[in-house]
Amino acid sequence: CPSGPALLFVKTGQGKEQGRRFYACSACRDRKDCNFFQWEDEKVSETRLAAREEYNRNHQPFFTHRQNVERYKNFVLLPLSERRFCQECQQLLLPAEWEEHSDHQFLCDISTAQLKSPSQLLYPLENKKTNAQYLFADRSCQFLLELIIDLGFRRVLSVGTPRLHEIIQSKASQEEDFRVRSLLLDIDFRYSQFYTEDEFCHYNMFNHYFFGGEAARETCRKFLYQDHGERVIMVTDPPFGGLVEALASSFKKLMAMWKVTEEEGHNSQEMPTFWIFPYFFESRILEFFPSFSMMDYQVDYDNHALYKHGKTGRRQSPVRIFTNLTPSMIVLPVEEGYRFCTICQRYVSSGNQHCEICNSCTSKDGRQWKHCVLCKKCVKPSWFHCSNCNCCALQNHTCEKTDAGCFVCGKAGHKRSTCPSLSRA
Ligand code: SAH
Ligand code: ZN
Ligand code: ZN
Ligand code: ZN
Ligand code: ZN
Repeated sequence: CPSGPALLFVKTGQGKEQGRRFYACSACRDRKDCNFFQWEDEKVSETRLAAREEYNRNHQPFFTHRQNVERYKNFVLLPLSERRFCQECQQLLLPAEWEEHSDHQFLCDISTAQLKSPSQLLYPLENKKTNAQYLFADRSCQFLLELIIDLGFRRVLSVGTPRLHEIIQSKASQEEDFRVRSLLLDIDFRYSQFYTEDEFCHYNMFNHYFFGGEAARETCRKFLYQDHGERVIMVTDPPFGGLVEALASSFKKLMAMWKVTEEEGHNSQEMPTFWIFPYFFESRILEFFPSFSMMDYQVDYDNHALYKHGKTGRRQSPVRIFTNLTPSMIVLPVEEGYRFCTICQRYVSSGNQHCEICNSCTSKDGRQWKHCVLCKKCVKPSWFHCSNCNCCALQNHTCEKTDAGCFVCGKAGHKRSTCPSLSRA
């Protein structure tokens, strides 16, 4: 489909098609955005294949990345008064094109500063089922960058983190002694208007597909290869509705790309990574990356009503950093209430009390959790032990057993839609 190779899914539930496997779009989780569908064992006729290829060609961006880079070069030569950005087409306009866009809304006098912060100029693609573009609040973005610098990294592979990429690029162009570099991999092609082919690759993180082909893949490989692969970190903030399995598979491929660049020594190591994702996916992520651990830091967003912190007191964001770096190295800001637990050897949020019985700081959501002797573990403060279900749950839950475990937390007794770990979000 236009997003590259499809993914193989399996029909679940009852009915005669249960267990039957089919291909569908990797990037769009809504059939309205891409309706590609093919049974695994389906024979596809030549005509249909040809039609599909034509459709895919027609659904590629109008300008190529190369063309966009040329356009940018011309754009910056224009006097301020001739620099326009079409808000409807989300495109920088050259004077010859004004006519075509005359009935569109546009911004004028686009400054160099604006060109350096495209994430402010472009509107976020919030469509939950495809892009789910939620931009870091400045506080969180600065925190990430400082952490990366303090840890001694020099290169950042920014996978779906345009705002992090942007502050790195912008600092690199302004401060002479700023040594960090970034390569952005993202499916949002609008960014190709602002970055060269060495700074941005049009990439799908659900199927590890480089839209720019071998040349783009080579750009990525080269970026990872510099300095013998040392001091590079991958930072990724995927759409939360995305399949963890597909994401993990792509990240493993990016890690493998890094690994083959290693000449000697640390062959058993994994590329340092920050995977930013909600805490209730912890067990899923650890399934694929047992070396990862979850940090208590709450990542905040600008355009997410639920995950941004308000002016008065903060709303708790469920989004965390998962990393394969040693937890004690991830220093969290004491000004924001994080403290170091000497027993756990990691920074934890202020409400996260060390439980003597579990021998760990057990809270996942920042609130103080309580220990249940029957469950033999700590649970959310709002939960009670239910003797019917033989586990802790919300007081008003229904004691129905469902066979399959919940998709989110893996526990039996409820479905994804009523998962207690989601109730806060
Ligand atoms: N917090 C980040 C943005 C995260 S939003 C920041 O401020 O930099 C998720 C990002 O992933 C968006 O930039 C979106 O365009 C990108 N994205 C969504 N689906 C993708 C896919 N299939 N492949 C690659 N990137 C994708
Ligand atoms: Zn502790
Ligand atoms: Zn406990
Ligand atoms: Zn209990
Ligand atoms: Zn119950």
